[in-house]
Amino acid sequence: MTKITVAKGDGIGPEIMDATLEIILAAGAKIEIEEIEVGEKVYLAGNTAGIAPEAWDTIRKNKVFLKAPITTPQGGGYKSLNVTTRKFLGLYSNVRPCRSLHPFVATKHPIMDIVIVRENEEDLYAGIEHQQTDEVVQCLKLISRPGCEKIVRYAFEYAKQQNRKKVTCFTKDNIMKQTDGLFHQVFDEIAKEYPQIENEHWIIDIGAAKMADTPEAFDVIVMPNLYGDVLSDVAAQITGSVGLAGSANIGEECSMFEAIHGSAPRRAGQNVANPSGLLQGAIMMLNHIGQTQVAEKVQNAWLKTMEEGIHTYDIFKEGISKQKVGTKEFAKAVISNLGHMPTILKPVFYANNSALILPKYNRSTPKNKELVGVDVFVHWSGSDPNALAIHLQKIESKGVKLSMITNRGIKVWPDGFKETFCTDHWRCRFKPDEGVEMKKSTIIELLQNAVRENIDTIKTENLYNFDGKAAYSLGQGQ
Ligand code: NAD
Repeated sequence: MTKITVAKGDGIGPEIMDATLEIILAAGAKIEIEEIEVGEKVYLAGNTAGIAPEAWDTIRKNKVFLKAPITTPQGGGYKSLNVTTRKFLGLYSNVRPCRSLHPFVATKHPIMDIVIVRENEEDLYAGIEHQQTDEVVQCLKLISRPGCEKIVRYAFEYAKQQNRKKVTCFTKDNIMKQTDGLFHQVFDEIAKEYPQIENEHWIIDIGAAKMADTPEAFDVIVMPNLYGDVLSDVAAQITGSVGLAGSANIGEECSMFEAIHGSAPRRAGQNVANPSGLLQGAIMMLNHIGQTQVAEKVQNAWLKTMEEGIHTYDIFKEGISKQKVGTKEFAKAVISNLGHMPTILKPVFYANNSALILPKYNRSTPKNKELVGVDVFVHWSGSDPNALAIHLQKIESKGVKLSMITNRGIKVWPDGFKETFCTDHWRCRFKPDEGVEMKKSTIIELLQNAVRENIDTIKTENLYNFDGKAAYSLGQGQ
């Protein structure tokens, strides 16, 4: 018996959760349910996180959490409970299998069986944003080596366990050489440990186009958070419906399972919603807690039901479907198919699908880190970069000189183009002359001089070489 935390959520949540629990309990799931309240009611009661402290205690104690979709009220500073849960509980891996059910669910992609493994904790979702000038806001994109290692290893271990043949990595490292570059580099390093699994890297733009057009070319795809967020919805949608996909959020200690869709408030309380997405989440949960036989039984019964054309409104299609049913009737149909196998769709065998146990991250020996300059960001409303440069040269100190100014990443001084559009946000790079040592104290002097010269500095970024290699971006056009 495994104790799990359940949240019935908002909108269609309670109906699809009841249907899901009814099916898995009928299949013999050995679970004890502890229910918590999260979502709209909690938000509207004034808790901007959408969850009470006692509910966190329950989730952390039971470690396995089955969650129905919730409604995040618009405006009012309400924080997304999903993002908070993933980050608080260290659920670094988001796994979304997307398989088409041709010819039973209409899709342009009859042969599609891909799994998106999305990094779940970092990237632009660190949520560190600042307005820096009148015209410019920024969002920090944070990518860490442990974050990359954990997710990439998870993707390869998952592929190995599931007998999948290939892991593809999507990044935009031709542009983001440091952040996406690290993700790609770690992918290449870890891929070498799995010679039996094919590996490849695609630039995300053409990779996404290819995935949407020819999904059969892919198997497991691993990617940073934001790309994974977008593309896992695309992948689910092109199988026929986002209503069919579930997702697992896996951490070292805790895990959360859910449908990928939202709370569909307009459909709430009408017994029409498709419980399949949440059921898929629950099947992943059963595998995760080692109840693989129950998971297999439920999945095969679900496939059989889909094959029989017993469909909820969202996937019902005249000529393909046989019977349009509501949420409860769909659940009954799946229950009556428990113990039966699909005959046309490929049945599943989950003997070996329990939770993956990954090695702990090992911090490697620190590299030799050398300060080699500083980028001072300046709020300035002028338009001529040469005028700004003359002003900035007055703050130079101890052989540390202004070497470049960029605006939104494009070099505008020295030798900029007059056509380049400039905002009021300037990155001003200071580097030491040949033979001069760059010191932290010099940065402070530069900033003090800027105060004296009435230059509005908004932040600094130190420039480092790691093991002699420059670890910062050049100006575009530099
Ligand atoms: P949604 O996924 O709720 O609905 C999108 C469309 O798909 C709607 O037309 C809906 O009727 C349909 N649909 C979704 N699930 C269905 C199902 N199981 N059966 C039949 N039809 C289904 O997306 P939305 O309308 O953008 O968001 C509604 C609310 O859900 C928002 O408050 C949003 O914040 C929240 N949301 C929650 C989660 C989550 O809890 N994981 C995820 C996404 C959105």
